[in-house]
Amino acid sequence: MKLSARANRIQPSATLAITAKEKALKAQGIDVVGFGAGEPDFDSPDYVKEAAVEAIKKGYTKYTAVGGIDQLKDAIIERMKLDYGLEYQKPELIVSCGAKHTLFNLTQAIIDSGDEVIIPAPYWVSYPEQVILAEGKPVILETREEDGFRIDPAELKKLITPKTKALVLNYPSNPTGVTYSEDELRAIVDVAMAAGITIISDEIYDKIIYDGKKHTPVASLGEDVKKATILVNGTSKTYAMTGWRIGFAAGDKGVVKAMGDMQGQSTSNPTSISQWAAVSAYASPQDLIVQRTAEFEKRKTYIVDRLNSIPGIKCVSPSGAFYAFPNVSAFYGKSHNGKTVNSSLDFTEFLLEEAKVAVVPGDSFGSDAHVRLSFATSMENIVKGMDRIEETVAKLA
Ligand SMILES: *Cc1c(COP(=O)(O)O)cnc(C)c1O
Repeated sequence: MKLSARANRIQPSATLAITAKEKALKAQGIDVVGFGAGEPDFDSPDYVKEAAVEAIKKGYTKYTAVGGIDQLKDAIIERMKLDYGLEYQKPELIVSCGAKHTLFNLTQAIIDSGDEVIIPAPYWVSYPEQVILAEGKPVILETREEDGFRIDPAELKKLITPKTKALVLNYPSNPTGVTYSEDELRAIVDVAMAAGITIISDEIYDKIIYDGKKHTPVASLGEDVKKATILVNGTSKTYAMTGWRIGFAAGDKGVVKAMGDMQGQSTSNPTSISQWAAVSAYASPQDLIVQRTAEFEKRKTYIVDRLNSIPGIKCVSPSGAFYAFPNVSAFYGKSHNGKTVNSSLDFTEFLLEEAKVAVVPGDSFGSDAHVRLSFATSMENIVKGMDRIEETVAKLA
């Protein structure tokens, strides 16, 4: 059957593809060490599961309000107030089927054909694709490894045109782990504010942050900045709830209403049971989250040290999220068994075949010099995987 031009424009998600490949190898009984996962290896908290069971027993299994139940909106509002002193009202909030869905609705709601959206690279794979699906134009803002992948406000300014509609911020970042101090953030936001563009701020890793750093939401930088910002977050990463599919946006009432209208004609409400589980996630004590972040930090320190000890690999230490994003381009042009590694995809395939280790090529994140390793896996796996990588890359000559 003939596909639409829209369907032909879209790239399948590379991260999901590598996870599928890894699962297929494992199903054949091959012992693969997987660094592909884009989700916490921890289980969803017990209190979250219990809240879901309770919801089922109470018969909360029917349609809800399209943009989410009031109880969940209240729990999210309270969480943001407690954590960041941010004040939102219910009409400024919409809950969707995961933050990816939130971002999809958002791009559909604000982008017109030809509108430009500035996306800092390396970026999360779905931003450019979602902009393209909305008939917008992704404009890539390159960052440098030497700057820890930080956005240079002067470079940002150069990319702004009369067609610029929005800037995407994602910090802590997937894949680089870069995060920003309040001053750094302010310098970036000043440029966006002067240009009168919308700030899409994906803060889904806000709670997974290291080295004693503190997350500053863009919207907390002032009332005018808050007005220009659509804040995106969700339960997936913080609460290890990727399968429940709960994300949300907070910001301009008109935009939130338009997103709700989109949602009303596509998915309707996010799953009723997941919404009650999310109420529990946001309203319960947050100690478990702090403990898990401490565990991620131990792994981060280990994996980054190991990577940097391997000749040819250079890895910036991430300040948040759960990914290492090492530069492996020193191996490009080198060969083993008659096969030459010339790209991040080649390197990924080489590791999968020779070391039985799965990583994700940086190419899909806008940087072919790098690969992404998720450390949302056990310390035991990390040790085993690093041993294999160390041994295997030494064969490239
Ligand atoms: C995982 C992720 C999301 C989406 O998460 P959902 O499971 O859809 O809520 C959004 N942005 C980034 C940067 C992510 O890594």
